[in-house]
Amino acid sequence: MAEPLPTSTRIPVADPARAAAAARDEILSAVERVLAAGRYIHGAEHATFEEELASFVGVAHCAGVASGTDALTLALAAVGCAPGDDIVTAANAGGYATAAARRLGLDVRYADVSPETLGLTAATVEPALTPRTRAVVATHLYGLMCDVEDIVELCRGRGVRVVEDCAQAAGAARDGRRAGAFGDVATFSFYPTKTLAAIGDGGAVATDDDAIDERVRSLRQYGWAEKYVVEGEGGLNSRLDELQAAVLRIGLPQLDARNERRRDIVRRYAEALPSTAGRFVWADGEDFVGHLAVMVAEDRDRARSVLEAAGVGTDVHYPRADYDQPAWRTAVRLPVTDYAVHHVLTVPCYPELIEDEVNRVAEALREL
Ligand SMILES: *Cc1c(COP(=O)(O)O)cnc(C)c1O
Repeated sequence: MAEPLPTSTRIPVADPARAAAAARDEILSAVERVLAAGRYIHGAEHATFEEELASFVGVAHCAGVASGTDALTLALAAVGCAPGDDIVTAANAGGYATAAARRLGLDVRYADVSPETLGLTAATVEPALTPRTRAVVATHLYGLMCDVEDIVELCRGRGVRVVEDCAQAAGAARDGRRAGAFGDVATFSFYPTKTLAAIGDGGAVATDDDAIDERVRSLRQYGWAEKYVVEGEGGLNSRLDELQAAVLRIGLPQLDARNERRRDIVRRYAEALPSTAGRFVWADGEDFVGHLAVMVAEDRDRARSVLEAAGVGTDVHYPRADYDQPAWRTAVRLPVTDYAVHHVLTVPCYPELIEDEVNRVAEALREL
């Protein structure tokens, strides 16, 4: 008999193949279903997924699109952002909103974040608003909902639209209301490591507003008002494909249970980590879904090398502020954002971690 292949004992920071392996049979039968149905773009699976996600979020409409970044681009265009307008967002959230806004010719103004949640608050957003601000992109970072109610309240009085970026927070809820049901429009990504994951790219735009939904549906498909009639300028080809929609329909009913498991894992990490070494960015409630287990480490380099030596994979989300990216450099400096960039450290967190792995990560954290 052949020797078993040597397996690395390092626990990776993400491992989407585990979820795909667990759902293999369901995925294969979904693929068979799509092949047999013969509509490979905007077929029945896609239409049903759109309805299922809208009803899950608790809004009237949901439009599938090709990625989370496209969802942001289309949402910003659909709320009326035009060249010369500005948007306000956080600079510690990976740069996706900046990329989307710049593609539309918008100026991006950065607001600092709360030292507790590393997310935006009304108090941090307010000083960044200008008379030309058309929208605020409020990102629910790491799966922890930001202060979206207060941000909506602040913006409503000023005619500023709120785009909730739910790419990291699918399934989160506050007072029974899901992330994505607070702002004017919400965007989702189904990148394979997100809480609701495809086996490729995908995204969605959810809204209660009929006009926003109509514009997104037109712009995601060439600007068509109807087939071959282009009414909107700035149209893209940005569709969620039928196979991914069928795969996402498998994941959606499992999302709450999987998020509960993620939250439980982060709870155990948070209990293990000595307060002298740092703290986790999380909440012990439904408004946190554990997309990423991120600690703010006192000494990140040291923590990272101790964890890696113990076989615990680590990563940094994110190592650069948007205003410090080579392509986007500006003179802006925000103290909490700069602190976060140098102190955040991500450790493995996904529902398929086995107990032994969770314990190993927790033990390594306890040693810090
Ligand atoms: C992943 C992510 C996106 C972008 O999604 P893609 O599908 O990769 O384009 C946008 N915003 C946030 C906060 C994300 O984490």
